[in-house]
Amino acid sequence: MAPVLSVQGASKRYDSGFEALKSVDLEIEKGEIFALLGPNGAGKTTLISIICGLVNLTEGKITVGGHDIVRDHRKARSMIGLVPQELTTDQFEKVYDTVSFSRGLFGKPANPAHIERVLKDLTLWDKRDNQLRTLSGGMKRRVMIAKALSHEPEVLFLDEPTAGVDVELRRDMWEVVRGLREAGVTIILTTHYLEEAEEMADRIGVISRGELVLVEEKTELMRKLGQKRLTLLLT
Ligand code: ATP
Repeated sequence: MAPVLSVQGASKRYDSGFEALKSVDLEIEKGEIFALLGPNGAGKTTLISIICGLVNLTEGKITVGGHDIVRDHRKARSMIGLVPQELTTDQFEKVYDTVSFSRGLFGKPANPAHIERVLKDLTLWDKRDNQLRTLSGGMKRRVMIAKALSHEPEVLFLDEPTAGVDVELRRDMWEVVRGLREAGVTIILTTHYLEEAEEMADRIGVISRGELVLVEEKTELMRKLGQKRLTLLLT
């Protein structure tokens, strides 16, 4: 089967001349959870922003669901659900309304059954008439994910879903991602933490200074790291 996402030789040079991505190759299969692991400034957000069409590619080719992100941008973008690092919702909106409105932004006809399924998958159905301001931080994050899934994308991007949150919320997010896996959603997430990548992902890619230096099945990576893993976690 053709990959959901194909990245070939993707490079990004900013106007300053800084090379944030260096010839990245990556393929993501339907239904997999892929974690892109890397420290501050490694290029994680740049890669996601390019795939989502928020930043231009300098060189290379990227397709989402077979659609080229440059030549067929609108179609490719409609196949992507993006959950950015910051919460971007009006606190006075109601849960159901904000999620179904988000679907409309992609020009998709209403599909109440889909919205209901997404809200149920994220345990938001009972809160559908609540204003966002009444929800906990964890529930607000779930609403952001529901919005990103509202237009039935092929792949969901979670950009540092646990940045700046406490331990409890991190664990809650791990649970959410596992639940979405059960629902068959394809996910690419970015993180600074190896243990988090291990908790959520099937495959892990390590990005360092704009280069994808390693891509490995999680179980294989854990086996290879063995004792060294402890050292990595402690540094
Ligand atoms: P973090 O984990 O801190 O979010 P990241 O891995 O997502 O980091 P990016 O935000 O992709 O890293 O940044 C990669 C590099 O590109 C950094 O060195 C950053 O300073 C640089 N960079 C990002 N945006 C621009 C820009 N508009 N112009 C010049 N350099 C930029």
